[in-house]
Amino acid sequence: MDSDICDVDMTAVLPKFLEPSKPIIEVWMEKFHKQILSGTHFKDHWRLWVPKLYSPEPNGSCLEWSFDEDKAQEVLFETLERFICNGDPQAVLSKLSQMDSPPSVCGRVFKMGEPTYSCRECGMDSTCVLCVDCFKQSAHRHHKYKMGTSSGGGCCDCGDTEAWKTAPFCDIHQAGSDTSQDTGKSLPEDVVERARITFSAVLKYAYDLLTLAHSPGLPSELRVNEFEDDPLGFWNAPDTYCTVLFNDETHTFEQVINTLARVIKCTQKDAIEFVTNIDREGRAVVKCSTFNHCNELKTEIEKFTSRHGNRALKVLVVHAHVVAHQLYAIKLLDWLQKILGYYEGFRILFSKVALENNSPDASIIEGILLRDSQLWKSARTHWHRLIISGMLMDYESKKAFAQVFTKHYGSVLKDFMRDDHDHSFSIASMSVQVYTVPTLAHHLIAKESVLFVLLNAFLSECTRKCNKLGKLEFERNIPSGAFKRAQFILYDLRYLLSAKPATWTDPLRKGFLQGLSLLLKLLEMMQGMDLVTRQIGQHMEYEPEWESAFNLHIKLSHVITLALEWCGTDRVVLIKAYRATLTKIFENPCFDPLQSGDVKELVDHSVTCLPYDVSTQPISVHLPLSRFLAGLHLHLEKYNLNFLSQEFQITHKPTPEQIIEPVLRTQVMISQVHAGMWRRNGYSLLNQLYFYHNVKCRSEMLDRDIVLLQIGASLIESNEFLIHVLNKFNLLNWAHPQFEQNALKSPEEDSMRQTMSLVEEFLSLLVVLVGERHTPGVGQVTHNDRTKKEIIHQLCIKPLPHSELNKTLPEDVNHETGMEHVIDEVAEFKKPPQGTGKGVYELKPEYFEQYNVFFYHYSREELSKSEEAQRKRRKLSGELECCPPPPLPPLSEGFLMISNLLQCDVMLHVMHIVLERSVNLRARSFSETQLHKVLHLIGYALLEEEKQHCQFMLFTERAEKWGLEGLIEELSTSPRVEAHKDLLAWTLIKYRKVAAPRRGPVQTVPAPLPETSGQNERTAKEEKEWRAKMAAQKRAKIMAQMTAMQKNFMKENAKLFETTLVESGKTSELSGSSMDLSESFELKPVALGPNQTTKINLERTYTCILCQEDQTVTADSPALVLAAFVQQSTVLSQQRGEELALNEPDPFYLQSTLGPSPHTGTCGHVMHSHCWQKYFDNVLAKESRRPYRLRQPTSFDVDKHEFLCPLCECLSNTVLPLIPPLGSLRQSRSGQSLKFETWIKALQIALKYKSEGFFAMSSLKNAAGRTTNPSLQSLETSPSSSPEGVFGIADDTEGEGIVAQQLFSTCPIDQIITELGESGEEFSNLFPTVESELKLSYNLTEMIFLFSQATYTRGLGVNPHLEDSRVPLLTWKSCAYTIRSLECLLQELNKPLFGELSSRQQDCLEGLVRLCGVLANAWNQPRVIVSHALHLCSIMLDNHFDGPCILDWDGFGILVPFALAMPSLFMSGPTMPVPTGSVEDLFALQLVFVSNIVKILLTADFTKGILPMDVDDAQQTNEPLLELLTALRREAGMDTSQIHEMNAHTIWLQVKEWSLPFLRCSALFYHFLTGVPAATVLNELGGDTFENLCSYLGLPSTYEGLMGATIIRTLALRWASHSKVKQVLSGAQSGPYEKPIPSINQLVTLPTDYSELINTVSMFTCPNSDHDDSRNPTMCLVCGEMLCSQSYCCQTELNTNLVGACTFHAYMCGAGAGIFLRVRECEVLLLATPNRGCFMSPPYLDQYGETDQGLRRGNPLRLCPDRYRKLHLLWLSHGIHEEIARALESTTTILSTQWQHL
Ligand SMILES: [Zn+2]
Ligand SMILES: [Zn+2]
Ligand SMILES: [Zn+2]
Ligand SMILES: [Zn+2]
Ligand SMILES: [Zn+2]
Ligand SMILES: [Zn+2]
Ligand SMILES: [Zn+2]
Repeated sequence: MDSDICDVDMTAVLPKFLEPSKPIIEVWMEKFHKQILSGTHFKDHWRLWVPKLYSPEPNGSCLEWSFDEDKAQEVLFETLERFICNGDPQAVLSKLSQMDSPPSVCGRVFKMGEPTYSCRECGMDSTCVLCVDCFKQSAHRHHKYKMGTSSGGGCCDCGDTEAWKTAPFCDIHQAGSDTSQDTGKSLPEDVVERARITFSAVLKYAYDLLTLAHSPGLPSELRVNEFEDDPLGFWNAPDTYCTVLFNDETHTFEQVINTLARVIKCTQKDAIEFVTNIDREGRAVVKCSTFNHCNELKTEIEKFTSRHGNRALKVLVVHAHVVAHQLYAIKLLDWLQKILGYYEGFRILFSKVALENNSPDASIIEGILLRDSQLWKSARTHWHRLIISGMLMDYESKKAFAQVFTKHYGSVLKDFMRDDHDHSFSIASMSVQVYTVPTLAHHLIAKESVLFVLLNAFLSECTRKCNKLGKLEFERNIPSGAFKRAQFILYDLRYLLSAKPATWTDPLRKGFLQGLSLLLKLLEMMQGMDLVTRQIGQHMEYEPEWESAFNLHIKLSHVITLALEWCGTDRVVLIKAYRATLTKIFENPCFDPLQSGDVKELVDHSVTCLPYDVSTQPISVHLPLSRFLAGLHLHLEKYNLNFLSQEFQITHKPTPEQIIEPVLRTQVMISQVHAGMWRRNGYSLLNQLYFYHNVKCRSEMLDRDIVLLQIGASLIESNEFLIHVLNKFNLLNWAHPQFEQNALKSPEEDSMRQTMSLVEEFLSLLVVLVGERHTPGVGQVTHNDRTKKEIIHQLCIKPLPHSELNKTLPEDVNHETGMEHVIDEVAEFKKPPQGTGKGVYELKPEYFEQYNVFFYHYSREELSKSEEAQRKRRKLSGELECCPPPPLPPLSEGFLMISNLLQCDVMLHVMHIVLERSVNLRARSFSETQLHKVLHLIGYALLEEEKQHCQFMLFTERAEKWGLEGLIEELSTSPRVEAHKDLLAWTLIKYRKVAAPRRGPVQTVPAPLPETSGQNERTAKEEKEWRAKMAAQKRAKIMAQMTAMQKNFMKENAKLFETTLVESGKTSELSGSSMDLSESFELKPVALGPNQTTKINLERTYTCILCQEDQTVTADSPALVLAAFVQQSTVLSQQRGEELALNEPDPFYLQSTLGPSPHTGTCGHVMHSHCWQKYFDNVLAKESRRPYRLRQPTSFDVDKHEFLCPLCECLSNTVLPLIPPLGSLRQSRSGQSLKFETWIKALQIALKYKSEGFFAMSSLKNAAGRTTNPSLQSLETSPSSSPEGVFGIADDTEGEGIVAQQLFSTCPIDQIITELGESGEEFSNLFPTVESELKLSYNLTEMIFLFSQATYTRGLGVNPHLEDSRVPLLTWKSCAYTIRSLECLLQELNKPLFGELSSRQQDCLEGLVRLCGVLANAWNQPRVIVSHALHLCSIMLDNHFDGPCILDWDGFGILVPFALAMPSLFMSGPTMPVPTGSVEDLFALQLVFVSNIVKILLTADFTKGILPMDVDDAQQTNEPLLELLTALRREAGMDTSQIHEMNAHTIWLQVKEWSLPFLRCSALFYHFLTGVPAATVLNELGGDTFENLCSYLGLPSTYEGLMGATIIRTLALRWASHSKVKQVLSGAQSGPYEKPIPSINQLVTLPTDYSELINTVSMFTCPNSDHDDSRNPTMCLVCGEMLCSQSYCCQTELNTNLVGACTFHAYMCGAGAGIFLRVRECEVLLLATPNRGCFMSPPYLDQYGETDQGLRRGNPLRLCPDRYRKLHLLWLSHGIHEEIARALESTTTILSTQWQHL
């Protein structure tokens, strides 16, 4: 049966143990039939096998355990399956699973990071979620849904009918629910019995093994006797133990890594792996050895980790067999979970077994509940998963579990509080699975007193925190970890209460009220906590702790809200709750019952007030008991109850005055704070008040307080109520008619100002009490009305995006604000004009009248902002410029008396005195705000009377007695209140309108209305508008004329503009007059060769950005430089990943793969070189002074020569010197009549004499030795720059030193002349024996050196080395690469070649190309240049088989060095030639161009995309082309059979098309090299045709002209016959890049729907740890590779540092720059190795045009192509480094991200 060879061998030796597994099954079966089979028999089997299979090996590395899993599968797991099934398990189990298929519930347990979906329309609460598979098959995908990612441990609720209001099944599980009725749970009896025994044995075993606490040995029944047969010593020596480390939350990764590295002497990398395992699994075996050794390590580790007062890390020494059994136990749990998945019957059986009572731990489930916190992480999660999949999918089992869970809730939570693992790793987190099920929750409340149990557990924690007054008190500096963990109970309470019962039963009432009484006890502990007393004299010494109380409130507030809602659904419960609350309030009086009240009076009303001085006695903002009463009171009316109802006649009942007292005190305190009386109380109080008012807390704070005061106002006689309030505000004096006169007697400025502020606050409170009726119960409104009101007021400040608006609204238990229900009614969503930004909601115009300037949720700032906005809006639309009070909704029956406040005597008196004092110009207590608020109140009164919601409103009639109308009229003309003129007018009109019916027709002629500013404005405004309009028209006309003129002028001077347009906006000017210029322009400019047209050799002048002085660019003046940034780039690279890394770039030319090369960029800001040096030295000095630890988070790194441009702060790392036009330095050389063929022949002769030699580099010393430049000196003294040996080989590169100083030389030119014969003379003209000296200033030369070092060091990744012969090559390469990438960018942007270059690009190319042109000269090593020229020449013409082939190089990439080196071929210095577009330059171009065409002919697939053949064209068929093509392809060993079917014309068109990138790059290059302006057509889009480009470059444009010559044909065939070409093109070997043109790289294609991306990554596992989830899956947007970021498991060593996966990948894939998408966080990450980076918003938007960085909002997200394109262009234009530097520069956070670890 077992064919394993190894096993056969062993069987021979060990027949007893290794018998196939059958016998044991037979043994079990036998016992089973005798009914004596028990767990012991299973254990007996495992006792022997488990240590054999799973014991760790002593002394081996614990990171490399490998077990014979196949064997284990057979012996251990399959045996069990066979036994249960009594036959082939596969057959039986699959049959069972078919019976169960599909199941009616999903129950999939989520892994961490797995996507979850919740339906905002149908989910019962926010914990109801679906897995991807279910979601995609469910109706909810068309609803409003939210995405999220699981933190692990939850499960899919598909199929749970209680989790969803509608559509509880997805299509898959719907099918299951349809069929599940008829599947009887009919398992054969014997299977059931065997399964039962097996499950029981497995569970018991796993439970025993995993809960083994602190004992190093095994339970006796599992011990292997030493006497037992063990001929081979299979259990090793008995002395094999393991040192096991456990995780905790006190020690950091670093601490443990260091400890391990030192104690067990492993490498850093291994230590990291151990720690990663410990973190993931919760424990890890770090050593397997003898007991003594293991114990020593344990002691060491404990010693190490307990330093610095830490608790020691938990370490155990465990016998190896224990570890083996534990490993197996965990695997068994997995196995069991798998088995349970097959069949529902198994699950029910499991649940029975798991709940079976067997002493001592009652049942397995109970045992796990009680011992959970003793297990390590992975042991816990395995149990949890098993419980979820075994017990929670079936309702009855779930109920049973819920009961057991509730029974032990107290101890589970106690354990959890003591434990330090996260909540999600505790079995306490299972509460969400059972308490959120409504019927279960109701059952548990009614039958298991669950509310009581939970609250009791919480209260027992609270009691510890109470002070002697019985109030909660939190102290700073006392760790509150346990209490914070206790607050998880409040979440559980919330779950239980989240569904209101539809029907109440008596047990449910009893259970709920029992819980409620404890809740009230809790509120009692909070009522009046954190008391504050006004500080007088001194400031507070320390800020009192306030956060804990607010944290508690925030967590509790949902429970309070829900409890109130529950109370509101049942009359009996409501009555009992109200009575209980009243009693509690009575028992907690806020006043001294023995102290007698103060009698206060005002306008013939007197009342006894509770004496309490807010400004001297302690006050609290925490009044949850009073607020709870307010919440209950709102429900009374529904059940025809009120405060005075029979039901509430209890003996100890507080009076309304006593009820409102604490809340009133708090309001007065807040007013006093606003009046500046509490300044000395510090920030703690201000913070409290901020939160009191903030949207997070106000629902159960501010809002309830207002309701409670409204209750008071409706229960207490209006005049008395107002006197109470005035008294508490201490304003009765102010209300005295004689106040002004009295105040004159004791004039105290300060107290007067305070009084005035308090009056304003007092009036505000009245405005709020009267006007804020949008609480259901107070006004006749719904919840939607309330939400609408909030939205209206937010949008009256300004239009808001969805997310911001949502943030201003309070969230309910399900994190919903209810905004969606009403938003479309009140506002309109305006999409942004460009389609990329956020859209905003604008209020519909008809809702503006709802605006209340004194809206109580406005902060002071919002109030003034909204008022300003509304006044402005009204002014614009010609309305009165004021904000009259909004119409009020009718009050509920119980609150009607609030209206009466407006017309009671005290109120009218208050209105009167304020108006009177406003009229009285001498009154000192007047303030505009007071008047404004009083007018607002009068407005309310008038609106109330007008609406007649309550018949008793007779405001105008009563007001007459107080003469209010007259006072208002008088004020209308008062200059003192100019600002409120319009409001006064509005009030007066309203007053007369409301009073009119009562007054009757008597008063037909009311006094004339004062003129309002609005009316004034209108005419003035019209006048103004008309004038503005006329002016605008006039301007437009002039503009049009000017534009026309300009166009004409442009046309006439088109060529002039070509050059000047790009200059505009810069501080540079052309010297010389424009007249001279226009003359020099030719019609068809030609840049190269004998027909070269005129160049512009203008001297340009710049202003130095540092010293502001003007400076002209010439060869000998002080050098000017541009701040520049050189970076190694792979943006154009045609290979990624491995290929890219393996391919060593050739320094000589840019390869066809366009692999890593130095790219140069600049911001275009010009400085004097000496000014820059001063600046840079300063930066250096400043950096070196900075303390080292603060160095990291800088935007630039001086060690790498980085600095920020002094003007624009653009990241730079070198400077690019400005060189005068090359034409001004050198005339083009003669040799006009030289033939191309002759030139090639001459070169071939030169190659014939090519010889190699070694040269010491002595001449260089001069150049380097004279350096005085500090930045250059730092280059030279760089420590690792290689010492100069005999050959001066730069050995600091990776074995590439050969090219360094091994040089080529050739014969003197005379030899060539001789051999060439008559045309020899012409050739020699190209190389004049004496070049006039090129006078580049010393300063300029230095800067050229500096720059060339930058390209050299970046390009090769080496240290600076002034003499390396590769220096000029790398600079030239950078030039080629930069031009190439610009050409790509222009293509991608669809921009013309020349017309729209930015000045930045223009400056960069001009500087770079000119510098390359003079580099041979400045560098001053003629021999090296000559050698390079020869080498390149040899590559091109000899094309040796052992050298590179035509497919290796990029056409333009070889052109640049070739063209720049060739002119020096026969020169020996000291002055070297400068290429300026002579005939020789043309030939160089032509030669490379021809090679490029040959490459196209060889590599292109002409069978595709054949254009329709034109008959005329067909006539001119270019037979030679076909002939050449055949010859070439035959030479290259390719199939030529199809060529005769091809059309030469079409082929030629293709060739021309594919030649364009080369020609475009060449045109850019030669334009800047020669200074010949580009032809006008090249400035136009599409003008860059093959012909136009050839014409500008002086090249022939026909096939004949280019390819006709025999010498070309010979060359072409030579290229084609290169052995590498043959191998690659015949397909024999993969090799160099073989496409006619490289494609422009794009970022990876992203899916439109973001959830698809999340789904993909949920499958992604860390590549470095077996099938483990990756926490931060991150995608490289360049190549699409998925990485496991920010995790120790995937750290890699890079330059001796350990870096995260992204950093490493950025280094490999992007040569140091990376662009990533962090999928779970939904954000873009830019990285610059080694340690810089930044986050950017992702290219995904929700339907409101907003991003969701961090996926907090969870709205469905879709790809925004525009944003993604922007990102793409950022990358393509090499902007990543700059972007990061700018982001780092602008961050202000002190916490820096460890970018290298991402
Ligand atoms: Zn599912
Ligand atoms: Zn489903
Ligand atoms: Zn839905
Ligand atoms: Zn300067
Ligand atoms: Zn700049
Ligand atoms: Zn990983
Ligand atoms: Zn990549």
